[in-house]
Amino acid sequence: MQLLRISLLWLSCVTSVAQAASELEIDLKTLTSKSHAGRESGYADINKSARYIHSRFAETGVDVYYQSFRFRQGFGKLGYGHNVVATLPCNTPSCEPAIVISAHYDHLGSKGTRYYPGANDNASGVVVMLDIARQLITQTRHRDILFVATDAEEKGLYGAHFFAATLSPERVALNVNLDMLAVNRKNRLYVLTSKQAKAYTQTITQAFNQEIRALVFTSTARMSHRLDTPRVDWLRASDHYAFHKVGIPFAYFGVGTDPFHHTHKDQFDKVDIPKLAQVSAHINAFISALSVSAAP
Ligand SMILES: [Zn+2]
Repeated sequence: MQLLRISLLWLSCVTSVAQAASELEIDLKTLTSKSHAGRESGYADINKSARYIHSRFAETGVDVYYQSFRFRQGFGKLGYGHNVVATLPCNTPSCEPAIVISAHYDHLGSKGTRYYPGANDNASGVVVMLDIARQLITQTRHRDILFVATDAEEKGLYGAHFFAATLSPERVALNVNLDMLAVNRKNRLYVLTSKQAKAYTQTITQAFNQEIRALVFTSTARMSHRLDTPRVDWLRASDHYAFHKVGIPFAYFGVGTDPFHHTHKDQFDKVDIPKLAQVSAHINAFISALSVSAAP
């Protein structure tokens, strides 16, 4: 009986990871497809990618809405952006401050007849965020979980700055920013946390308990040194900086460097889907550890 229970449990784990992988694959294929044209921000109409992300959140059963904003892009020209925001409320009588999960969905658009698929940067983060929403919806949650698929990150973190300004920082425990999660052969993810989020280090490393490991840094200089990226300021490199600016602690997850970054070759078939599913399971384990119980 015990054996049967274990094998059934094992089977259900395998099935759910396989299911997650196929959903991830569908979302990644769609967001990197030619019809999404490289997901460039700036247009007044709510774009196809935002509508797709909205519909996928809605399918999971979370409340979801668009948050449109304007920003100045080169030479004083006005640009339009559209964040997609979803909320999963705390469902217990005592609620701790919220967790905000962010991932930018915009990318570089197209040039001539070619487009930039942006599979790793950052369709990977968006599809993992959608996957986490699917997993958290059935759980007991001691916190509100907010999800934001930001727009206009590539043009200056505009969507994240706009969204962060709408938050009450004292009501947010942590921003988890996901940007470029397609792990390569090194099976390693790099995590930068602000000093206020240093206490989460152990919970993060414990959640990465299989072949993919998380290396956690609180110093951007040390992370740059480790990655041999002396010119990259990891604090300002992605949306977590906008949360940091309003005083919200952050943990940023990413692969560090990618030889295909901002090239036409950052495409769907370069992404190892089973590994991405494993990354998603690990990040979800971290977020669950913070939301399933009232501590820390
Ligand atoms: Zn990016």
